[in-house]
Amino acid sequence: MGVHPKESTAQNIENIKRQIGEIAAIYDWDMEVNTTDPEFYKWTQWIFVQMFKKGLAYEKQMPINWCPSCKTGLANEEVVNGKCERCGADVTKKNLRQWMLKITENTDRLLGDLDKLDWPEKFKKMQAEWIGKNHGAEVDFKLEDRDEAITVYTTRPDTLHAATFMVLAPQHKLAAELATDETYHCPKKTMVYTPSLIWKFI
Ligand SMILES: [Zn+2]
Repeated sequence: MGVHPKESTAQNIENIKRQIGEIAAIYDWDMEVNTTDPEFYKWTQWIFVQMFKKGLAYEKQMPINWCPSCKTGLANEEVVNGKCERCGADVTKKNLRQWMLKITENTDRLLGDLDKLDWPEKFKKMQAEWIGKNHGAEVDFKLEDRDEAITVYTTRPDTLHAATFMVLAPQHKLAAELATDETYHCPKKTMVYTPSLIWKFI
């Protein structure tokens, strides 16, 4: 739009507030939170620095939704039926170095302290499900003629003896390397970016 986002954002906020006033909706503006205000986000940055110092923030390659036409990452909500909401192009996955927060380190505390919150039960339940604690094992499957192994997390290691194959996600770092004519398997033509694999156990 040729306008600095700082200016357009401030204008949009003013506009929305004017409209809210015009429909006579009642809000306590003393309680307003503006996440684009440096006075607000200096604290989210401060929290991040504290987590970084404690080793709870780390960088990792993680796949994101990628629109090759807009050349931008997309939130799940911006992907409609596998297509970019903005331009309609097929959305692919792209590995990107991203900051992650190690919430798993504090799972017990996060779950335990939910009881202290004066929240409706359904929100507490949603929060607990988001934290998603479960018990399981990581099992290494050795690859034929290679040193690497594929690590699989399972909550049911007792059922492993019945397993006959595994599926490797297309974004797995070994997927492109391991693909052969026999193991290459691509359910959706539009997703041809990196191959997904069906890998027989050895
Ligand atoms: Zn797009």
